[in-house]
Amino acid sequence: MKKKVLVLGCNFAGLTAARFIHKETKGAVDITVIDRKNYVNFIPNIPIEVFANRNPEDTMEFPFQHHLKSDGTEFILGNVEALDIGNKRVIYTPSERAGAAQENISYDFLVISLGCKLTYDKIEGFSEFGHTFTDTYQGNKTRRYLHKEYKGGPIAVGSDRFIQGQSPKLPDIPQALAACEGPPVEITFSIGDWLTRHKKGGPENVTVFTPAEVIADDAGKRILDQLLPIVSNMGFGYVNNTVGIKRLHKDGIEFLNGKSLEAELKIILPNWEPHDFMKGLPISDDQGFVITDWYMQNPDYPEIFSCGDAASVTVPKLGSLGHSEAEVVAKMIAKEVLSDYHHEIKPVQPQVLCFGDMGHGKGFYMHTNEWWGGDTSVLQMGYMPYMLKMGFKVSYELLGGNVPSWGVPVSIFAGDHIAI
Ligand SMILES: Cc1cc2nc3c(=O)[nH]c(=O)nc-3n(C[C@H](O)[C@H](O)[C@H](O)COP(=O)(O)OP(=O)(O)OC[C@H]3O[C@@H](n4cnc5c(N)ncnc54)[C@H](O)[C@@H]3O)c2cc1C
Repeated sequence: MKKKVLVLGCNFAGLTAARFIHKETKGAVDITVIDRKNYVNFIPNIPIEVFANRNPEDTMEFPFQHHLKSDGTEFILGNVEALDIGNKRVIYTPSERAGAAQENISYDFLVISLGCKLTYDKIEGFSEFGHTFTDTYQGNKTRRYLHKEYKGGPIAVGSDRFIQGQSPKLPDIPQALAACEGPPVEITFSIGDWLTRHKKGGPENVTVFTPAEVIADDAGKRILDQLLPIVSNMGFGYVNNTVGIKRLHKDGIEFLNGKSLEAELKIILPNWEPHDFMKGLPISDDQGFVITDWYMQNPDYPEIFSCGDAASVTVPKLGSLGHSEAEVVAKMIAKEVLSDYHHEIKPVQPQVLCFGDMGHGKGFYMHTNEWWGGDTSVLQMGYMPYMLKMGFKVSYELLGGNVPSWGVPVSIFAGDHIAI
């Protein structure tokens, strides 16, 4: 009988993992995927749609079921509610209609790629006064405000404090005070361009803030030494060491360091927090992120893997890290089930790989592992990073996450070496 692989969550990490597992095991396992929705939310490109006045609910939700079906993978539309680690079972409720009875499903291998909760509900004043881009609903709300109601006042863009998970069982990883600061940097550049093009001001309207000593710390010193002067020479404001957000109100933001910022439009990235049912499990760190090594395997329950934002080692919470992790998970499962699988498996080599929009068809590209002690550090700005960002979206949608093994290395080569 074929071994059963259960993948929880089907956005970037889950879809990529499910498709790579099918490919790597050559169909030798039965794969089931559970997600509460049946489309990929293509989060990294939501801001581009908003600035172009397109509703991301129409353009950034890609159905994935036909891709799973083509691999013979089963899909369950359901809400995962609990993990019974000891009995190798997952408890879920089908989510198509209200009132469904709870069910459970067993597994031989479990891949947890459920992402996180984005805790806007813990930021006082967010629902009334805050805006963001982290899903298509919020993106569309921000689009309506920007294009219909924005009066030309100050704009603040930044992150609340991230609480990184801790456990003595984790590999040594650097500590971050914000979950992912590529997005605030990207939004700052592109909103500055949007203001200029719409004759509503320019970069001088915009202040980017961070809870940390320095924004996008994980980009490493060499990139930041180039990036921060560019941000200030373009006219953007910059505020650091906010510690976190105390509350939003109509006219601005109050921070935990006692300072405040005036803002008509407040664009917020919150704390990334694990789902409640992940807290206190024997596989979880003190916050509820899944403990793994860099082979993405739990040390106490080797049948359990995790990839993407749900994994504790995924810091910053970047889709590109989740992608490399999904590749390693697929190889690890193939090694377990195929007696003739002799490929060498390398652990994930953590790095920041980020393609950001800057407006006007231009973008920035960061490729660095300096934060983890490596010596790669590349920053490029121009048309090529934007083309690579758009190219990745098109290929991801077309191939349903099944990006060929040369796809990412080719993008890195182009990003590192072609400056236009
Ligand atoms: C504005 C913005 C821009 C970004 N830009 C970039 C970028 O340029 N490059 C980059 O690499 N990264 C970027 N990121 C980060 C990237 O979007 C995330 O790292 C990535 O989405 C994480 O993927 P994931 O699959 O791990 O989690 P998620 O995308 O959060 O997916 C989790 C999945 O699990 C499902 N799920 C959750 N709970 C349950 C449940 N209880 N039951 C059933 N299903 C459930 C969800 O429906 C979802 O499909 C950006 C993030 C933001 C917010």
